[in-house]
Order: sequence, then C-alpha cells, then structure tokens
Amino acid sequence: MEKTLVILKPSCVQRTLIGEVISRFEKKGLRLAGIKMILLNDTILNEHYAHLKDKPFFQRVKDSMQICPVILQCWEGIDAAKVVRTLIGVTNGRDAAAGTIRGDFSVSAQENIVHASDSAESAKIELKRFFRDDEIFDYKLSTLANLYASDEI
Ligand code: ADP
Repeated sequence: MEKTLVILKPSCVQRTLIGEVISRFEKKGLRLAGIKMILLNDTILNEHYAHLKDKPFFQRVKDSMQICPVILQCWEGIDAAKVVRTLIGVTNGRDAAAGTIRGDFSVSAQENIVHASDSAESAKIELKRFFRDDEIFDYKLSTLANLYASDEI
C-alpha cells in the first residue's frame, strides 16, 4: 500500500493540536507506519523546500519550521498521498475548506499546521529524507477488512 509523509509543524506543536491532528488521520482509516519528533535544521529544510528557494518568504518559512521540534509521521493506505492532501486542505488556511485540518485550525498561508507530500512520487523521496528504513513498521491493522472492500486490497 502507498505511504506518505506528514509533518506536524511548529504551528501545530505550539498550539497543542498534535493529538487532534493525528486523530484526523487515524479516524480516516490510515495506518500509522512511523512517527518521531525531531528539530529540523537549515540543511534539511533547504532540501525539503528547494522548490521555494526563490520566493521572498523562503527564509521566513525555514525559520518558522525551526522554532521547536516537529512531529514526523508516515501514514499508509490506498492512495495515501491523495487522501492525506484532501484531509489537510489547500496551502492558505484562510482559503482551505472547513472540515479540513488547515480549514479548521489555520488562518495563515505560512502557519498552516501541517505538511504532507503532494504525490506518491514525492512521498517516496520525502520519506527517505526523514526516516531510516528501520523506523517504518509494516504491521497489519486488524480492522483492514472493515476499512476496504476485498477487491480494493
Ligand atoms: P504546501 O505545503 O501546501 O504543499 P507549498 O509547497 O507551496 O505548499 O509551500 C510550502 C510551505 O511554504 C507552505 O505549507 C507554507 O508554510 C509556506 N508558504 C507557501 N506559500 C506561502 C506564502 N505565500 N506566504 C508564506 N508562506 C507560504
């Protein structure tokens, strides 16, 4: 099954929303395959946000990501990257639909609570960036038959 990366940003940690946000992914039916707390540094953020390097807010975004530790997670499910992106909503919290994580908890384009890989291809690269192989666990959820039809799995 597909795996994707989620980062609970300092805006999530500082606003004590860690449990609330993780429970959204759990309740949806995704399987938590890996989780850890780390303090990001400039080197890894230069790589992770390379697509933003010419934006005027690049340094500000990187600084904001280093205010305190973040929570990294690997979630698994069918079409996991797409499912997670739908759950988090669009980048700017003011534009994000109510019911999404950003729509419910963010009023900012920058302080938007959560990062999630934007495709299955990016997820593979991003998971390798943040997790060692032995930090990803392949146990089976006993509820699998209640989550998917037999022809889906
Ligand atoms: P997403 O996180 O939705 O995939 P991007 O990859 O475009 O969006 O941007 C990465 C992060 O950079 C965003 O989540 C947000 O924290 C920050 N960001 C993006 N656009 C802006 C902006 N216009 N002003 C401030 N910060 C921004």
